Amino acid sequence: MDHFLYKNGMLHAEDVPLSEIAAAVGTPFYVYSTATLTRHFQVFDDALAGMPHLICYAMKANSNMAVLRVMAKLGAGMDVVSIGEYRRARAAGVPGEKIVFSGVGKTADEMEYALTHGIRQFNVESEPELERLSAVASRLGLEAPITVRVNPDVDAKTHAKIATGKKENKFGIPISRAREVYARAAALPGIKVVGVDVHIGSQLTQLEPFEQAFRMVRTLTEELRADGHEIIRLDLGGGLGIPYVNSNEAPPLPFDYGQVIQRTVGDLGCEIEIEPGRLIAGNAGLLVADTIYVKEGEGRTFLILDAAMNDLIRPAMYDAWHDIIPVKEPAPATEPVTYDIVGPVCESGDTFAKGRMMAPVAEGELVAFRSAGAYGAVMASEYNSRPLIPEVLVHGDQFAVVRARPTFDEMLNRDTIPEWLAEE
Ligand SMILES: *Cc1c(COP(=O)(O)O)cnc(C)c1O
Repeated sequence: MDHFLYKNGMLHAEDVPLSEIAAAVGTPFYVYSTATLTRHFQVFDDALAGMPHLICYAMKANSNMAVLRVMAKLGAGMDVVSIGEYRRARAAGVPGEKIVFSGVGKTADEMEYALTHGIRQFNVESEPELERLSAVASRLGLEAPITVRVNPDVDAKTHAKIATGKKENKFGIPISRAREVYARAAALPGIKVVGVDVHIGSQLTQLEPFEQAFRMVRTLTEELRADGHEIIRLDLGGGLGIPYVNSNEAPPLPFDYGQVIQRTVGDLGCEIEIEPGRLIAGNAGLLVADTIYVKEGEGRTFLILDAAMNDLIRPAMYDAWHDIIPVKEPAPATEPVTYDIVGPVCESGDTFAKGRMMAPVAEGELVAFRSAGAYGAVMASEYNSRPLIPEVLVHGDQFAVVRARPTFDEMLNRDTIPEWLAEE
């Protein structure tokens, strides 16, 4: 359940009518619900009750500072994949000892910054990375706590662009070679082994791949302990899917996911870390757009919105399905009509939905994209010189702009013209 409901004929974010936000900030915009973010965190926290655990929100899903602050106040840790994300997390109030650092391409500078400013652990993804981390930590006279991200070669049964746990993916170390790599890690100066890490992909809609992967992590943990390593943490990654399609797709509940963790690795005496991103932020956000034109084409009707692929790239990039609904509540017996829902960008890929059945929408009326809180604003660009759209956070009957829309001047002034091209 989220907190975006019709009240008095108008879609609300918690207690704020979306029309009120639209009037204040203009369209398009993203809006996030504090109550929904909080609820999603708590659902995971409850699912892991009984096991020592830390929920490290995968902030690449939505790294707005206000969203991070909501998470930080709930006690969340963070999973970061760049030093930019690390700095955001710290600026939002997350202590270094709650931050795990993932990613296949950490640089020496990033390692040094994290080591000197405080880090819970590095999730190491390759042997060259291990060697580099050892060199950086030794030079600084510090010790880097690490897990090795293992690639269990399981099929996450998700979209190819977000599957990460097959052997052809760039992520992690083949689990068959893990013992060898841990032996190397233990022998290196400046490295302290603390656990095992796995993350098999995103938007998983079944529990079996998790179960398979976690069982393999269990076996590995026992082997590593027999080899003399102290394994005190298991980072089980993120990836639990959310329902994008109205009801045809019913991803597992966090509670059942928690049960899988409990029965596969719950008795190993390890602290459990999980890295949910999408499930925390996805259904906690909407993208709200205005209808510029309703255009009759040949045999089809186009709804041309003022939001485009540069604002929300998921449909173009992952063939993603977003529920799109009118902000003004349709009358009970309204017959649905069929639209191709598109943006103004000069690419055919700028199509949000084809042949979509929905309540009729007229020129000048607002629509809302559901499930747009994760991998929405963070993946936006200014393609077609469309300024980044604002983000708004709602809390009860209050709302605040948490990232403002840049002015055209601000956008233009980021470019500079070299002297030799200056006007005479
Ligand atoms: C992207 C990512 C996550 C989060 O995935 P979700 O599907 O958003 O839960 C977690 N861990 C790592 C290492 C990631 O790359």
